[in-house]
Amino acid sequence: SEEMLRQSEKLSEMGQLAAGIAHEIRNPLTSLKGFLQLIEKNEGAKDEYFEIMNSEFSRIEQILNELLILSKPEKQKKKKTSLNKLLNHTITLLSTQAVIKNIEVVSEISKTDVAYILSLEHKIKQVFINLIKNAIEAMDAGGKIIVSLEKVNESAVIKIIDEGCGIPSTILKRIGDPFFTTKEKGTGLGLMVTYQIIKDHGGQVEVESVEGAGTTFTVQLPLLDPSC
Ligand code: ADP
Ligand code: MG
Repeated sequence: SEEMLRQSEKLSEMGQLAAGIAHEIRNPLTSLKGFLQLIEKNEGAKDEYFEIMNSEFSRIEQILNELLILSKPEKQKKKKTSLNKLLNHTITLLSTQAVIKNIEVVSEISKTDVAYILSLEHKIKQVFINLIKNAIEAMDAGGKIIVSLEKVNESAVIKIIDEGCGIPSTILKRIGDPFFTTKEKGTGLGLMVTYQIIKDHGGQVEVESVEGAGTTFTVQLPLLDPSC
C-alpha cells in the first residue's frame, strides 16, 4: 500500500542517515584512539596530540548537538510565537559574530505588524541561527545581510539575503543532504536540520543564488489563524 511504501522509504532514508552518522563519528573516534595509543607508548609531542584530540572531541560533540535538535520529545507542544520577536532576538544573538567579520545584519522587520505562527520556538530559532550563520560564513569580505519579514496571504515570508560567495549551480542540488559541506570545519547538518524543522511546521524553503554575488534563502511558514 501507499502507507507501507512511505514507511519503507522513510526507513531507507533513516538507514542512510544512520550510516552517515556512524561514518562521521567513527572518523574522529579512530583518530582519538590512535593518539591515545601514541600517548600510551610515550611517543611524540603530547601537547600537540592533546590539541588535536580536543578538536576531535569537539567535532563529535558538534555533530551530536546538531542531530539532537531533530529528536522530538513527546511532551513538546507548538505555541503561539511572534516571528518579529524571535527574528530580532536571533539577529541580536548573532550580531557579535557578524561584527567581527565586518558584517552588518539589517533587520527589515516591522515593530507593529506582528506575524504570529504556531511553533516549537527553540527549533524555529535554530532554523534562523543556521541560515544567518551560513550567511555570515559565506561573507569573508564583510558587507550586509538583510533579514526581512512579510505577511503574504496566509503565510509569513522570511528572507535572509547575503552578499557572500554564492552557491555554484552544480552544488545547489546537494545542499541539505546530510553531511554535505564545502567548509573545512563544517558538519553539513545545518540545512538538513533546517529543512526538516520547516517541513514539520508546514512550511517550505527556497534558495536563489548567484555565484560571487550572494544568496537568498526564503522561508515560508503558515500564519496562525487569527481566530485562534
Ligand atoms: P555547513 O554550514 O556545516 O557546511 P550546512 O548544511 O549549513 O552545513 O550548509 C551546507 C553547504 O551549503 C555549505 O557548506 C555551503 O557550501 C552551502 N551554503 C549554505 N548556505 C550558504 C550561503 N548563505 N552562501 C553560500 N553557501 C552556502
Ligand atoms: Mg551551516
